[in-house]
Amino acid sequence: MAEVLVLGAGMVGVSTGLALQARGHDVTIIERGVPGRETSYGNAGLIQTEAVEPYAMPLSPGALFQIALGRGYDVKWTPQGLLSQLGAVATYAWNSRPAAHRRASVTWGKLIRQSTDRHGPLIAAAGADNIIRRNGYIEIHRTPAKMEAARKTAERFATEFGVQARLMSGAELRAMEPAIRIEVEGATHWSDSWNCADPGGLVASYAALFQKRGGRVVNLTQRFGLKVPMVFKRGYHKHYHMELPPHHPIADFGNSVVLSPMRRGLRIATAAELTPHPRLSPPQLKHGEKAARELFDIGAAVEAEPWTGRRPCMPDMLPVVGRVPDQPNLWAHFGHGHQGFTLGPVTAEILADELSGGEGWAELQPGRLKRG
Ligand SMILES: Cc1cc2nc3c(=O)[nH]c(=O)nc-3n(C[C@H](O)[C@H](O)[C@H](O)COP(=O)(O)OP(=O)(O)OC[C@H]3O[C@@H](n4cnc5c(N)ncnc54)[C@H](O)[C@@H]3O)c2cc1C
Repeated sequence: MAEVLVLGAGMVGVSTGLALQARGHDVTIIERGVPGRETSYGNAGLIQTEAVEPYAMPLSPGALFQIALGRGYDVKWTPQGLLSQLGAVATYAWNSRPAAHRRASVTWGKLIRQSTDRHGPLIAAAGADNIIRRNGYIEIHRTPAKMEAARKTAERFATEFGVQARLMSGAELRAMEPAIRIEVEGATHWSDSWNCADPGGLVASYAALFQKRGGRVVNLTQRFGLKVPMVFKRGYHKHYHMELPPHHPIADFGNSVVLSPMRRGLRIATAAELTPHPRLSPPQLKHGEKAARELFDIGAAVEAEPWTGRRPCMPDMLPVVGRVPDQPNLWAHFGHGHQGFTLGPVTAEILADELSGGEGWAELQPGRLKRG
């Protein structure tokens, strides 16, 4: 048995505490605030068994031109935001080339496909079933070309990874989600993913389970002086009152938003922004609200200010899980990018196995950062 300190009580840190505890270690989680109140609070709440490929940076000249001109809503940036993480962004772009992206997807897909199996027992033990829906989520497609591309993606994911999906016509979508009030071309129902009506609440209930099982959560802030190249993709959300919310989260990627029914209201969550400081009136959120109002009959905003947090993305797109070289007692577990809420309990098992004498996963080791 080892005495282990875990830094940070987000989904990743709390899952790590639980996985180490299950192997008999004596674990304390050190948190500067409250468990589950940062990025693990503000996400879209998807536990995504279908997200078998990490987000690649769009590299076609047309897409790069749009991003450079600040058009579109998928990626926004400011010169200061881009310059402060230029090296990591360049490596991320390099790893977005098809061959490198395919390599990363092999490992990523293996991790993602375990996510509901890992969350399931934790949800049950934490008594958090009341905030989990096991009905998947819906991605809408507004044009025939997008629908055709979606069909190919669904077929590929089914063949290569066993992902379940149902393609629906616009009419089938309206029957399933009567809250949608316009006609769209169609949709993909990613049926084996789960979603959560209170992501911060789920982390808090996992933290309570950790404490019930003998773990400690203490407040302390300390820096270890490690410098890690990362791409920080800022996202925003706001909740809106809605009388009859949809039954599933609705991803409208054509407008770069995910609309999730949450306890506080309909949560509009945005795509990526490379900025060191948050904007007061983010254009992606404004655009997302416009798209949401077109789809649904929604009311006023619940909060005056948007929430904001940053997705921790590694330049090679894979999380960092394992022992830090030259530091026999320091272990890394971070960098889950767009899917840390999904993956926390999956990679926690890998880390806890390695810390307890197992082999770990070679492709996730922190040593690769030095080579990077
Ligand atoms: C808009 C948006 C939508 C998203 N949607 C999804 C989704 O649908 N599904 C999904 O799987 N993922 C989603 N993500 C990504 C996901 O939220 C993150 O990958 C995940 O929350 C990261 O978890 P974490 O535990 O690493 O970080 P955090 O949740 O940020 O936790 C880190 C913790 O460390 C603490 N801390 C930091 N520094 C110190 C210190 N020096 N000392 C002590 N404590 C410290 C912080 O207070 C915090 O509690 C989304 C992200 C965004 C921004």
